[in-house]
Amino acid sequence: MPARPIVRLGHPALRTPAQPVAPGALALPEIQELIDDMIETMRAALGVGLAAPQVGVGLQLFVYEAALREERDPGIPLHAVINPMLTPQSGEMVYDWEGCLSIPDLRGLVPRHPAVRVRGLDRLGRPLDYVAAGFEARIVQHEFDHLHAVVFLDRMRDFKTLAFYDEWERYMVGGGEAGPAGDLEDEGEDELYEAGGPEGDPDGTEVL
Ligand SMILES: [Zn+2]
Repeated sequence: MPARPIVRLGHPALRTPAQPVAPGALALPEIQELIDDMIETMRAALGVGLAAPQVGVGLQLFVYEAALREERDPGIPLHAVINPMLTPQSGEMVYDWEGCLSIPDLRGLVPRHPAVRVRGLDRLGRPLDYVAAGFEARIVQHEFDHLHAVVFLDRMRDFKTLAFYDEWERYMVGGGEAGPAGDLEDEGEDELYEAGGPEGDPDGTEVL
């Protein structure tokens, strides 16, 4: 299960809509190897999600998993989702920080639906139908977007929140530094900055 190279923004695979996995193709060894490789690649890159176009494969397939971070947090178990359809559940859009393995070192605030119904197939071809909420809903929407040639930058509504990781950590997530964060609050945008990391995660290192 070798890790595969992750393509970066500018690679056409990220801007080409992926094709559905053909019925029956899930049983092929190359598809099962692809899924294993994607899991390995995601874990090696310390990501919480990875879509097939990010390894240069134009198929509607993504994997995700978030490790347990603290005792009260059960984490998000490993999922492989094939040919997904998402249906947003009711609720106001929620802003939180996102990064992307294909857009290294950048963070930005992205609005997402707080919960989505996920339908598709698992890696054995069995039907999936469940509701993802919170951080899991954010991951699923981010990865689903990759299957449709959309990256998180396309979803941002204010590029003033776009930042390199070090600067983001220092100035934008309440690292105790005076100055720019205060300036931003003075502009009346503090509501955007109260979201913190994903679901309260303080280091916000998750990339998808
Ligand atoms: Zn991504």
